[in-house]
Amino acid sequence: MKRTTTALSFLSLGLAASAGRSCKCMPGQPCFPTQEEWTAFGSKLSTPETLIVGQRPMGAVCYPSDPLFDVNACQALNSSVNGFNHVFMSAQIDATNWLNLDSVVTEKGLDGCPYFPLAQNATCNQGRVPPYAVNVTSVQDIVEAVNFASEHNLRLVVKNTGHEAIGRPFGVGALEIFTHNLKNLTIHDSFVPQGAPEGTEGVPAMTMAAGVDWRQAYESIERVNRSVVGGLSPVGTVGAAGGWQLGTGQSVASPVFGLGVDNNLEFTVVLPNGTVTTVNEYLTPDLWWAIRGGGGPSFGVLVDVTVKSHPGAEYTSAFFVSQAADDESYLELLTLWMKYHNNISDAGWGGVWPFVGRGLSLSFGARGNPPENPNGLPTFQAFFDDAKKLSNVNVSLAEFHVFSSFGEFVETQLVDPNTVIGFNSTAIVPGQVQSVTGSWLMPREVTAAENAESFAKLLANMTILAVPFFVGGGVVEDVSKNETSAANPAWRHTLTDLTMSAGGPASIDPNLLEQAVHENLKPFRALAPPPYGGQYVNEADVLEEEWQIAHWGTQYPRLLAIKKELDPNDLLIVYHGVNSEDWDREIICKTTDGTQSGSSGSSGSSGSSEATCPGAPTESSPSSPSQGSEGSTSPSSPAQGSPSQGSPSEGSPSPAQPSTGAPSPDHGSHGHGSHGHHSQASPSGTLAPSQSSPAPSSVPSGGSEEEDDDICESA
Ligand SMILES: Cc1cc2nc3c(=O)[nH]c(=O)nc-3n(C[C@H](O)[C@H](O)[C@H](O)COP(=O)(O)OP(=O)(O)OC[C@H]3O[C@@H](n4cnc5c(N)ncnc54)[C@H](O)[C@@H]3O)c2cc1C
Repeated sequence: MKRTTTALSFLSLGLAASAGRSCKCMPGQPCFPTQEEWTAFGSKLSTPETLIVGQRPMGAVCYPSDPLFDVNACQALNSSVNGFNHVFMSAQIDATNWLNLDSVVTEKGLDGCPYFPLAQNATCNQGRVPPYAVNVTSVQDIVEAVNFASEHNLRLVVKNTGHEAIGRPFGVGALEIFTHNLKNLTIHDSFVPQGAPEGTEGVPAMTMAAGVDWRQAYESIERVNRSVVGGLSPVGTVGAAGGWQLGTGQSVASPVFGLGVDNNLEFTVVLPNGTVTTVNEYLTPDLWWAIRGGGGPSFGVLVDVTVKSHPGAEYTSAFFVSQAADDESYLELLTLWMKYHNNISDAGWGGVWPFVGRGLSLSFGARGNPPENPNGLPTFQAFFDDAKKLSNVNVSLAEFHVFSSFGEFVETQLVDPNTVIGFNSTAIVPGQVQSVTGSWLMPREVTAAENAESFAKLLANMTILAVPFFVGGGVVEDVSKNETSAANPAWRHTLTDLTMSAGGPASIDPNLLEQAVHENLKPFRALAPPPYGGQYVNEADVLEEEWQIAHWGTQYPRLLAIKKELDPNDLLIVYHGVNSEDWDREIICKTTDGTQSGSSGSSGSSGSSEATCPGAPTESSPSSPSQGSEGSTSPSSPAQGSPSQGSPSEGSPSPAQPSTGAPSPDHGSHGHGSHGHHSQASPSGTLAPSQSSPAPSSVPSGGSEEEDDDICESA
């Protein structure tokens, strides 16, 4: 992958005025709106404060060389971030959740503005923090922002909570739409989508504005003793109505009620042409299909979403915390778990099963008390009993608990460090200022009991933290649903979404983190190549080359066609989003074939309306649409990666460096203090590749040095 070496180097380039669509119009270019035009735009918005001009990274207050320098403000900022604070971070207009996503990742490391200077005389660089932002409080604010960006060919990004994994909510030189403060929420006893045939029966539902998060959603719906399908997140901070819904949405409740997209009833959306539209199966069938799973914000800026609600119910949870003393017993532990894996899904459970450093923890939930599925308790109890028989494995917790609701299960046990019994997201989710995540959807054939040992070997060999989401199975397996939304069809035969993360402090090279995740995913990808397996678009591996087929499988060609018609001027393009093939890593210029002669961006040139970036990154758009389509029109047979053609170990490449095994997590909580050969434990329990460790051998190459050096950089 090619990288930039200078965050805002386009400012000095005199890049061509790109009134056309080969490049976005960037600050400093003649095409960029004048101060008067920004002022006129601001005057159309809800309040004089709605538009922020000259937005800076929040760390600017920590740099003596910066006009915003303020020692007290810097201290306050660092105590708020405090290593990592999801509530604080997700409410910021000027930051995503992670520093590496606020920065341009160059081959030399971060180009951005760490919350404290890493060196004396350091400069706070703008990085990917949008210099212009609209803190929207009304639909009209969104419409105005979309129209202004469209008129001036600006890079437009949408940020809700900033939890997304590869930096799509931010962008170099962009205008940001910040939706986080849209908090309206309405509960319906009987909701009928607009345009539904007469006589259509209403269903209980909830409408959430774009900024509602899962904590607000659960608290609100459970007050009327109902429930919605939603995510797990530290302190409820993942957005309930933004990227989660648009990117598919998985939940521990999915085995009972389906994926997020299976529960949508209607959206209000501002389209790329600035119109406010009601999107549902009756009024806009193609867009209805595409927007549900196509990924945000590719098909419009979501204003609100209406989702089905379900009867409230108690939740039974199963919590398990274990620690193996040595590598051999760790493998036995993981093998035992894999022997039960599919059966536990079939017995009605959903959950998460983080493992790292010879420790395995399970936090599972099943609807009902006792669980509605009669096999629920006996199946889990059998696993508990067998695990306790393992020699050299300390099982410190193996218990069932009952919670009054799904929300209480999530809130009390998964997010509150004071009450936690099971998986404590606040401790284990990447608790550092940099984080990289990736995932692979594991088909049930691959995780079948007969492959338990070979699959467990791959798990044991991982060198970074895994937080697999056990959210498939049950009604998710209804393959007829592939017709009704653009969600990756791989979901329909997946039980575990194998999610993994590497995190680290500001000083670590983010390239190492990206490579660590990519390398650790490889053996699992090889077992279930796309479109048989796939990747959750909301937990994308930034280095995935065949992203079209990995994210959407056979759905991609249709998605691409709808996108091209809906957004002919590429207003809402995000990295590895639909129709992003031709764009560089930062969605500033089209690279097309990587050899274009349109070097009007060279220093000193100006005036062309079809400006392109000289030497713009090409590896960042590795697969053409047709490549993605080809792959999807001749899908690999499930058998290709399935156990019937060999065990997981046979079908996989050599795994990454084996974990050396590590000190055990302290008490029964997770991820603390242990690390493998290439990893180091963070204070908050996150693993990060050691800075002194060698880079993985297959570092993705970005071509020549020169080529690597620019987004739109002068020659
Ligand atoms: C700690 C943690 C826990 C998680 N748990 C789960 C889980 O249980 N289940 C699950 O499925 N996923 C989970 N995720 C992944 C989560 O679904 C994604 O991070 C998701 O993209 C977050 O959406 P957001 O709107 O909150 O965040 P953002 O990062 O702000 O947005 C994500 C994407 O959606 C776009 N977007 C946001 N709002 C809008 C809008 N109004 N209109 C159009 N586009 C928009 C953004 O541009 C961006 O591309 C988790 C992530 C984290 C970090």
